[in-house]
Amino acid sequence: MTDTPAPAAPLRPQPKDWIKAIHAYVPGKSTGLDGKPLTKLSANENPLGTSEKARAARAGVVNTALYPDPDSKDLRAALGALHGIDPARIVMGTGSDELLHIAAQAYAGVGDEVLFVRYGFSVYPIAARRCGATPVEAADLDYGTNVDALLAAVTERTRVVFLANPNNPTGSYIGKAELARLHAALRPDILLVLDQAYAEYVAPEDDDGALALSQSAPNVLVTRTFSKIYGLAGERIGWGTGDEAVVDMLNRIRGPFNVSLTGQAMGLAAVHDQDFVRASAAHNRAERARFVAAIDALGNHGLRPLPSQANFVLIEFSGKLTAQAAYEGLMDVGYITRWLPGQGLPQCLRITIGTATQMNEIAAALRAMAQAAQ
Ligand SMILES: *Cc1c(COP(=O)(O)O)cnc(C)c1O
Repeated sequence: MTDTPAPAAPLRPQPKDWIKAIHAYVPGKSTGLDGKPLTKLSANENPLGTSEKARAARAGVVNTALYPDPDSKDLRAALGALHGIDPARIVMGTGSDELLHIAAQAYAGVGDEVLFVRYGFSVYPIAARRCGATPVEAADLDYGTNVDALLAAVTERTRVVFLANPNNPTGSYIGKAELARLHAALRPDILLVLDQAYAEYVAPEDDDGALALSQSAPNVLVTRTFSKIYGLAGERIGWGTGDEAVVDMLNRIRGPFNVSLTGQAMGLAAVHDQDFVRASAAHNRAERARFVAAIDALGNHGLRPLPSQANFVLIEFSGKLTAQAAYEGLMDVGYITRWLPGQGLPQCLRITIGTATQMNEIAAALRAMAQAAQ
């Protein structure tokens, strides 16, 4: 009879429990299951590419041995002038992704709750867990933002509320009155983060008032990005604006050189090329309307395009053709879209608005598949 103790496990670094609980973000794919490159309509990138002026600015970046301006002064000044905001109230991020994370980190921690709507942006639960806070999901309203459910889910531990408006992956949107109602009913010690990655796609008359709210209310942070309508996803540039105290906190913990030299140069030129932004918005509006009409016509096959104010459409499949089969069938004809079982949406496919030809091909392929499935 031996009494030898089991060999002790070798000592190794122990990650925090809340980090172990994180499921890594799943980016939109660019290849099929066999690794074949496909036309990518899975990550809401701009089908018109990048502004020529921004591309020219990249060529003008000479000495990349030098650090970039840590304060992105010129870029913040240009954004301030464009939006009528004091540049001192603008904080830059390595994509708006960095800002979402540091907003949670600055205002929430272990024992606190971070609240967002069901089918919200998939970064929010990661941002919550990363700082040890508990992610809390409020019920949706037919896939959209339910202000009453959000308010009902607020507890004394709630510190941060994330709301993407328009939302990704649903494309849903609440107007100015609903947003004002949400803000007015929230405790003033809760930070309301309004993620406006798709704001430039919203018609000016439908403005949700978020930017104005971020300048008047001490507890509202708006985040925006160069990744979508500006066509600069590869450069990783985001910005946020809100009360000076909030901006000050985020500046303390952001990366010190968080926007690259090339990113600052391209971002600045892109801000000065609003013609490109308007052309991108007009293209999106026209092609989205055409695509939604084409999918609406497949309603008898159980396809339903959800109302979208963004540069993508989420389609619900409730007939014989499933979202998974449609996802796979679109890959067969050369397109990668976004099927979302991991976000609780196995019945849905999110499709980025591409060029007119691409949208025609996708609509035709979906029609053929839906008819064949009958
Ligand atoms: C794409 C997207 C972003 C942008 O992220 P970046 O880090 O700026 O590229 C932020 N929020 C939502 C809801 C998005 O869909």
